Amino acid sequence: MRVDVVTIFPELFGAFLETSLIGRARSKGLLQVEIHDLRDHTEDRHRSVDDEPYGGGGGMVMTAPPWIAAVRRISEGRPVRRIYLSPQGEPLTDAKVRELAEAGDLLLLCGRYEGLDERVLETVVDEEISIGDYVLSGGELPAMVLIEAMSRQIRGVVGLPLSVENDSFRAGLLDHPQYTRPAVVEGLEVPAVLLSGDHAAIESWRREQEVLATRRKRPDLLARES
Ligand code: SAM
Repeated sequence: MRVDVVTIFPELFGAFLETSLIGRARSKGLLQVEIHDLRDHTEDRHRSVDDEPYGGGGGMVMTAPPWIAAVRRISEGRPVRRIYLSPQGEPLTDAKVRELAEAGDLLLLCGRYEGLDERVLETVVDEEISIGDYVLSGGELPAMVLIEAMSRQIRGVVGLPLSVENDSFRAGLLDHPQYTRPAVVEGLEVPAVLLSGDHAAIESWRREQEVLATRRKRPDLLARES
């Protein structure tokens, strides 16, 4: 899949794109991410991207022309879903991540300051997505959150597909507790069933633990299912 990102801080994406799963997915050709500097789409000498809000008030607003030019140029001649990362958007969920991972090419708009002039949303944005009910200073971290979550859904990115299929939220439940060596930590032993070699018993223990963990930590997920 290809993801284009427009930002005024391209340098924020450097280490993120080079490291771990994302770095490997890119080098294997499973994921293509192109970062664009919004200022390359400005027309004035100062490469300015913001101005005072009409009507007064604090802060600056990102001007529409560079955004409209950038989105049109980058998406020209191909179908691209254009997403503005915004605290006012649809909350990002596991289901939404999977939908977007299969949606084809995406173009992500990362705002700054007080956000984008509303006319950008009216002309070149298909949808808004929020990563939670809090306000960050920019859309770059939300874009990285979305890219990383989607990349886990691309076949071949995570070594063992089973580990993605068993992740939290997939069956409306949280994942079961995980243990690795050593067998005893601070006097706490690994549950005996995990050392038993009885795969059916291990599976059934894990399913039971998923329900218990969900009931304890996220009862709202169980309520949604019923
Ligand atoms: N004035 C805006 C509001 O209250 O809706 C907030 C602007 S915020 C300071 C600057 C930029 O950060 C936004 O344009 C958006 O791209 C990004 N952003 C902030 N919080 C976000 C969130 N929860 N999810 C996605 N993007 C967010």
